[in-house]
Amino acid sequence: MPRKRDGEFAGNKSYLPSKPCAVCGRTMTWRRAWAKTWDEVRYCSERCRRNKRAAAAPDTSRDD
Ligand SMILES: [Zn+2]
Repeated sequence: MPRKRDGEFAGNKSYLPSKPCAVCGRTMTWRRAWAKTWDEVRYCSERCRRNKRAAAAPDTSRDD
């Protein structure tokens, strides 16, 4: 029997929430480790967290 919840899981993972990193602008996809802190997560990595003060100007050289 097929799953009954159509639209919720269509075979891809795009249903996961995501948002841009406050420093590098890279898209961060929800991780289980962030389940409880997702609203507070602003940086994609420890490095960006440390670089947050250097992020006065938006990064215009991102290429993804
Ligand atoms: Zn980042």
